[in-house]
Amino acid sequence: MMESADALAADLPRALEHRELVLHYQPKLHLATDRVREVEALLRWQHPKHGLLLPGAFLTGRIDGDVALVLGRWVVRAALDQCAAWVAEGADLGVCVNFSPRQFDDPALPMALDELLADAGLPPARLNLEITEVAAVVAMDRTAARVRELRRRGLHVTLDDFGTGFSSLTWLQQLPVTMRKLDQSFTTQLGKHSQTDAIVDSVVRLAHSLELEIIAEGVETAGQLTHLRRLEFDYAQGFHICRPVPAEHVLPYVRRPR
Ligand code: C2E
Ligand code: MG
Ligand code: MG
Repeated sequence: MMESADALAADLPRALEHRELVLHYQPKLHLATDRVREVEALLRWQHPKHGLLLPGAFLTGRIDGDVALVLGRWVVRAALDQCAAWVAEGADLGVCVNFSPRQFDDPALPMALDELLADAGLPPARLNLEITEVAAVVAMDRTAARVRELRRRGLHVTLDDFGTGFSSLTWLQQLPVTMRKLDQSFTTQLGKHSQTDAIVDSVVRLAHSLELEIIAEGVETAGQLTHLRRLEFDYAQGFHICRPVPAEHVLPYVRRPR
C-alpha cells in the first residue's frame, strides 16, 4: 500500500542520502523560432518500493523546514550541473527550477545561488527560478524585493501558475519577473469559450506591454498550440510538445529537426 504523503516526506532525508531523487526535464518551446531555449527541472523520486513518484505524492507543506532547504539546494545543484553538461556539449540551453516559498525567502539564497552557479561554471542568465503566483502574493513586498535582487544579479524569475493567485495589477506591474507562465487551466479552455480567449488575449498584451515574456503550460493538443501561436505567446510547454523526460533524452529532442 502507498504511504501517505507526510510519511513519504519524512523519508526524504534517507532518499537524498541513497540518491533516489532524480530530475526530469520538460522543454519550453520558443514559438517564434520553434527552438527549445530552456527546460524545466521537475523532481522525481525513484522509490525502491513504489516506483517513480511525482512531487504531488511527497512534496507536502509539512516537510521539515531544514529538509526543504537541503532538498531545494540539491535540486538547484543537480539542475545546474546538468545544464553545464549540455552547454559543454554545445547546446544553448537554460534551466528552470521550481522554488518553494521557504526556499525563495531564505535570506542566504542569493549568495548560495552565486556559489552554485560558480561551482557549475555557468553565468546567472542560465538559471530561471519559478515561483507560483499563489506563493508570491503571500508576502508581496518581500517577494518583489527578492525578485528585484535576483534580477539585478542577472538571474531570471518566472511567475508560475499565473492567473490563480489573485495578484493586483498594481503589484504585478512592479514585479520585474522575466516571464509569466499562464496556468494550465487557461490553456485547457482555449478555443472553448470566447470569454476565456478574450481574457488570455489581454493577458498576453499586458505582459508584452510590460516587456515580459509569456508562456502557456499544459499544452495537450495541436489545436491549443495553434491558438497560442495566434495569440502571440512567446513560449509553450506541455505533453503535446514534449513530456518531462530523463536528462539523456533532452539533447536528442532539442536537436531534432522540426
Ligand atoms: P509546475 O511547476 O506547475 O509543473 C507543471 C506540472 O504539470 C508538472 O507536474 C508537469 O509534469 C505537468 N505537466 C506538464 N505538461 C503537462 C500537460 O500537458 N498536461 C498535464 N496534465 N500536465 C502537464 P509534476 O512534475 O508532477 O510537478 C507538479 C508540481 O510540483 C510542479 O508544478 C511544481 O510546482 C512542483 N515541483 C516539481 N518539481 C519541484 C522541485 O524541484 N521543487 C519544488 N519546490 N517544487 C517542485
Ligand atoms: Mg513550474
Ligand atoms: Mg505551473
